[in-house]
Amino acid sequence: MYPRLVIDLKKLKSNLDAVSHITKDEGGCSLMIVTKGLCADKEMVHVVCEHPAVDFVADSRVKNIKTYADEVRKSGKKTVLLRIPMHDEAAEVVKYVDLSFNSELSTMRLLNEEAKKLGVKHNVLLMIDLGDLREGIFYQNEDTIFETVEEILAMSNVNLYGIGVNLTCYGAIIPKNDNLSLLTALAEKIENKFGIKLNMVSGGNSSSIYLVEKGELPKGINNLRLGESFLLGNDTAYETKLPGTTSDALVLEAQIVELKEKPSLPIGEVGVDAFGQKPYYEDRGIIKRAIIAVGKQDTDIDSMTPLDEKIDILGGSSDHIILDVTKSDKDYKVGDVVSFTLGYGGMLKTATSAYVEKAYIK
Ligand SMILES: *Cc1c(COP(=O)(O)O)cnc(C)c1O
Repeated sequence: MYPRLVIDLKKLKSNLDAVSHITKDEGGCSLMIVTKGLCADKEMVHVVCEHPAVDFVADSRVKNIKTYADEVRKSGKKTVLLRIPMHDEAAEVVKYVDLSFNSELSTMRLLNEEAKKLGVKHNVLLMIDLGDLREGIFYQNEDTIFETVEEILAMSNVNLYGIGVNLTCYGAIIPKNDNLSLLTALAEKIENKFGIKLNMVSGGNSSSIYLVEKGELPKGINNLRLGESFLLGNDTAYETKLPGTTSDALVLEAQIVELKEKPSLPIGEVGVDAFGQKPYYEDRGIIKRAIIAVGKQDTDIDSMTPLDEKIDILGGSSDHIILDVTKSDKDYKVGDVVSFTLGYGGMLKTATSAYVEKAYIK
């Protein structure tokens, strides 16, 4: 059934080979693979668990981690929760998660209580904000950082596993040698001040991997967390393709339900579209318009690219996308299937939509 997301597991495996080569062999970092972009798809998780180079399997939601914690642990890897935990989920976190990212003492106190009840030691990574302004203690507030470390170290059932940073998410700040060096310097200060050794200094997501190739990743960074570069082959700092990866491991397929020649300009007074936006239309004269049975409920129209390069996406609404197929070499017919590669937003929405089926190439 269409629409469907076709997941090529062989291509995902070779993307994994490529990013693990860069991260581990060239970068000397441990490898954390992030599963949230594909909604922790089971088959994809198998590929990740079977890969010997992967050290950690991470997601932002406990609900996803719950589905694969057993498998990850059996394969000798650790589960990681990326989003700062809710107070509400502390009990679940200590049960299913081996390492959680944190920035709030009140939450870590709850994790400590719950870990005590369960008789386990829970690892935390303290997040430092280097200016992207999403999660983490602001790097300039060193006193707060040291006080937080001191209290964590005094906890009976919580272990300070390391520190980390997230960039290029809210503030779109690009990781560089200079800002990441602030993190490694801070790690050293913590180690010296408290006489401890941090296991992990995690230097970011798919926007940090380009630094390895440029030879600019600071020496003290020993972990990277990769979602998009594994799934789509992207370096997300400068939007380049990572060597050895493919961008078509995930393909969205949708079926044409109407194909007609009509004008390109709507007729009548222009108000707002189905989403309250004032649309802009380009006058292309009479064109061959195909409607495919997939819409904004299933995907992100701005985050998909037709494999047929001569197709243009004109726009869409909840359940329809309208294509201009006039220039295509193919003589499309109703019932034909049109395929798209996806960007991050398109991938996220298709993987989450209950209306998009999944198919696998094994
Ligand atoms: C989502 C996320 C990642 C992975 O990001 P990609 O850009 O997909 O590699 C890494 N770290 C944190 C904290 C995240 O929330």
